[in-house]
Order: sequence, then C-alpha cells, then structure tokens
Amino acid sequence: MPEPTIFKKIIDGEIPADIVYEDDQCLAFRDVNPQAPVHILVIPRKEIASLAETDDGDQMLLGHMMLVIRKLAAEMGLTNGFRVVANTGVDGGQTVNHLHFHLLGQRNLEWPPG
Ligand code: 5GP
Repeated sequence: MPEPTIFKKIIDGEIPADIVYEDDQCLAFRDVNPQAPVHILVIPRKEIASLAETDDGDQMLLGHMMLVIRKLAAEMGLTNGFRVVANTGVDGGQTVNHLHFHLLGQRNLEWPPG
C-alpha cells in the first residue's frame, strides 16, 4: 500500500487541520502556509491524485466542489474577487498528490504566476 498523503491523513482525522467546511463529499481547511490572507484548500474525500486523474464519473463531485468554493468565498467576504487554483502534476507545481483546489483572496493577486 502506498503511504497515505497528508490530505488523506487530514480526512481520516489523523492529523489536525483548521477545517472551515465539510460534508459527505469534500472538506475545506486553511492552508498551513498561506499565500494570501484567505487561503483555503478544498479537497474531495475520494482519493483522486490530481485533476488529471479525474474521470467523467467525477462530474458531480467537481461541480459540487466549485459550488462549495463559491459559498466559502462569499462567507469569507471575498466580494472584491478571488482566485481558484488547481496545481496539477510536476509542471503544475503540485506537491500533495491528492486533488485540491486553492481558494485565495483578500489581496490583489498578480498574474502571470511564476
Ligand atoms: P500544491 O503545491 O500541491 O498545489 O499545494 C499543497 C498545499 O498544501 C500547499 O499550499 C501547502 O502549504 C499545503 N499543505 C501541505 N501540508 C499541509 C498540512 O499538513 N496542512 C495544511 N493545512 N496544509 C498543508
């Protein structure tokens, strides 16, 4: 068996996280190394390594996670805008191999990324 990812350990309650939302499909918690005043990670409970590893059967799950992000952005008061990022694979800069969406806000974010 491969070593569980750090996010799987958070799902299983084996390591703590500052969880701001959870339901039967996903959970959201604050990033331990925030890159903006609001920096939340939204992850599926289902073990999916990255966006590249999703399939057509994940359509409802992915849509659900986007709506959770929209609600969290509203709850966090991100009325001036926000950014959603899914770093994917090596070139995408992904460091944890469990699908996650970053929700970043409450500062003016630059573009393009590095
Ligand atoms: P990636 O680089 O894969 O897109 O993003 C992984 C994110 O997970 C990083 O922003 C990193 O700070 C965050 N992270 C890594 N380990 C932990 C942890 O144990 N707890 C929390 N809350 N965030 C983590």
